[in-house]
Amino acid sequence: MNPIAQHRLGQGTWYMGEDPAHQDEEVRALQLGLDLGITLVDTAEMYGEGGAERVVGAAIAGRRDEVTLVSKVYPHNAGRSEVQRACERSLARLGTDRIDLYLLHWRGGVPLAETLEGFEKLRAAGKILAYGVSNFDTADMQEALRAPGGKAIAANQVMYNLRRRGIEFDLLPWCREHGIPVMAYSPLESDRREQQRLFADPALRQVAARHGATPAQIALAFLFAQDGVCAIPKAVQPDHVRANRAALDIVLTPEDLATLDAAFPAPKRKVALDIL
Ligand code: NAP
Repeated sequence: MNPIAQHRLGQGTWYMGEDPAHQDEEVRALQLGLDLGITLVDTAEMYGEGGAERVVGAAIAGRRDEVTLVSKVYPHNAGRSEVQRACERSLARLGTDRIDLYLLHWRGGVPLAETLEGFEKLRAAGKILAYGVSNFDTADMQEALRAPGGKAIAANQVMYNLRRRGIEFDLLPWCREHGIPVMAYSPLESDRREQQRLFADPALRQVAARHGATPAQIALAFLFAQDGVCAIPKAVQPDHVRANRAALDIVLTPEDLATLDAAFPAPKRKVALDIL
């Protein structure tokens, strides 16, 4: 069973765990999300250099079984034996005995076959239940699938939002064809200025007004309308967490989708994958 397949919405954690003064509100935000049924949580050893995993550990304490837990290993820790140790460190910070989905954060210098071998060993030991990749473009996916253990890749996490629709040209269709869910990161545009530009778009605001929703909710609803895609916005403000959950109930009409397509056209040729 693919751990991501039944999710359309998850909770991101980038920039959490960086400042102890914010830890309590971050934990509460994740717990509110869990209470609202957003049980997929995405983190990484990189975020806050382990701090985000600690925040997640605090948020899921006593309710681990409710959660689908995703974490990521740094490329420089993704060697055959290094990955065993990196995973153990993540498990300790998360306060759990298993990670549901463990991703290679991006492609680095370690041969893919070595990382996959390391992932297989972790899976055999029950430390991770599934593994996958992040920031892999189509050629990387094709190569990965040919490597031993590559056929078990359970997700590819990439940047995808209304303003960055490059993956719709080839990567997303390819992932669908191979039954590999795509996790859309930065679904609301991480960068504040880029986000403001997105939310100020007249077409997005027009669709939002039709639904009595916010531009952010429509940006998420657009992603929910894509087959095989799960969006993982990060939200610390409780109103944002609630709004993101409520966005799951918005059903965009063909007219809405046409309005969005005209304002944010999908590319008609291959473009390189957006990477943060
Ligand atoms: P994002 O989720 O698109 O945007 C986060 C920003 O949007 C925060 O400032 C948040 O504010 C705000 N926000 C959230 N919900 C909102 C709403 N309903 N209305 C208005 N604003 C809202 O960007 P992201 O954090 O870059 O991406 C999401 C997650 O993807 C990350 O946290 C991380 O888990 C993952 N990610 C993975 C990679 C990778 O290489 N694999 C790269 C980047 C991100 P508040 O926090 O103040 O509520």
